[in-house]
Amino acid sequence: MLLITCPVTGTRALVSIAAVRSIVNHPDSIAVSATCPACGQEHVHRTGRRLESARRAAALEVAVRRAEAPTPA
Ligand SMILES: [Zn+2]
Repeated sequence: MLLITCPVTGTRALVSIAAVRSIVNHPDSIAVSATCPACGQEHVHRTGRRLESARRAAALEVAVRRAEAPTPA
């Protein structure tokens, strides 16, 4: 789960791993793109300002990659 602040409604929303669309590593942060449960749009949430949030995003990335990996035949 990831806590984001929706830029449209201004509310904080919990985003599940299933709602994460992509994760991009940047030198200073990790950009997590997810479908917002509050407004339904896709927002990019940047983490990594703190080490702990970077760790959480990295764990999320592993989980997403596992979920996207094709099942071996
Ligand atoms: Zn939103």
